[in-house]
Amino acid sequence: MILKVCEVGNPVLRKAARSLSAEEIRSKDIQDLIGYMRDTMRDAPAVGLAAPQIGESLQITVIEDKTEYQKGLTAEQLSERQRMPVDFHAIINPQIDLLTPPDVSFYEGCLSIPRLMAMVARSRSVRVTCLDEHGEQRVIEAAGWYARILQHEIDHLHGRLYTDIMQPETLTTIDNHQRNNSASISAR
Ligand code: ZN
Repeated sequence: MILKVCEVGNPVLRKAARSLSAEEIRSKDIQDLIGYMRDTMRDAPAVGLAAPQIGESLQITVIEDKTEYQKGLTAEQLSERQRMPVDFHAIINPQIDLLTPPDVSFYEGCLSIPRLMAMVARSRSVRVTCLDEHGEQRVIEAAGWYARILQHEIDHLHGRLYTDIMQPETLTTIDNHQRNNSASISAR
């Protein structure tokens, strides 16, 4: 099922989402919700989606960076972004540690802020402690683009948007960015 994505200005995007118990995660309601979030992310398509973006103030995000999403990028662009395919998974109740300073800047977009993108500085390397879609504890060490996706999505769970930390003078429509650059890419 494809869910409606909440856009900026909807108060749910500014609320701190609540955590879930392992028992709740295994319930039919939450398992169904994770499936609908996966469907909605793939439909966009996007590389990440957080539950507040579909109107649920819960600490759940789903992530998937398919090889086919990376086809528009050159080998050099993939390399400088440290971008590699990431299989579908859910991240629940995450605690994130930034292992390096936020000094890597690339353009980001967000499904909840349609048509726009801007440069955002993020940490190259992070460690995330969370529960997975089965309610099992996981520790994820991530670098590069996957680390950027994690930072963007986990920000959503705390009511933060990329526009809070963007380099404001770089704000552009995606159309204009593509017009002015041979290749572009956005995290969602
Ligand atoms: Zn977003």
